[in-house]
Amino acid sequence: MPVTTEQVIAWLQRSAAALHEQRDYLTQLDSAIGDADHGANMDRGFTAVMDKLPGVADKDAGTILKTVGTTLVSTVGGASGPLYGTAFLRAGMALAGKMELQESDVLSALQAALEGITARGKAKPGEKTMIDALHPAIETFKAALEVGAPLKEALAKATASAEAGMKATIPMLATKGRASYLGERSIGHQDPGATSSWLFLRAMGG
Ligand code: ADP
Ligand code: MG
Repeated sequence: MPVTTEQVIAWLQRSAAALHEQRDYLTQLDSAIGDADHGANMDRGFTAVMDKLPGVADKDAGTILKTVGTTLVSTVGGASGPLYGTAFLRAGMALAGKMELQESDVLSALQAALEGITARGKAKPGEKTMIDALHPAIETFKAALEVGAPLKEALAKATASAEAGMKATIPMLATKGRASYLGERSIGHQDPGATSSWLFLRAMGG
């Protein structure tokens, strides 16, 4: 069953709700190894996205996601604004003109998003960033599709990998972003951006 643009919008709405609900949790994580603004940043960005969505609800998935990207870039300060903004812009470019998405389109969009984050932030897996949730999730998603898993099951597996990747950031030493200023003291804390990335994945499952 292809994914409709209504389902893309519903995913964005669930993401906004999750980021709003988890605002304090994300802030708490960022207060340990950053500047305590990740919850506020993500909530502000997705509140602005919710305001913009009605204007593009009848458009193709590419336009919808590109609108999310430009909104995040213009409303979110901090590292996460340009990083997630680029991710959504690249995913939107991968889905240009599409009113329905096949499983392979969802994979292409996720891969384009990760490539955007990597191009912008120059982080690799293992540096205690959002990439540590996204990279294993996308690998798992791809492997599940390759063995013929239906989309829902592939997304559930990807979400479990994102969660494991998020937890795996706890013992990591941060070498990118604000947390890297702490050096060894960044060890022992879960990365806020990996946590918001897990929330995006979890919201895909419906
Ligand atoms: P800031 O660090 O500017 O206050 P946020 O608190 O909103 O911005 O976001 C912090 C998150 O951004 C980190 O937890 C990390 O996951 C992510 N991040 C920071 N730098 C990078 C980078 N170079 N590549 C990928 N993700 C990064
Ligand atoms: Mg911060």
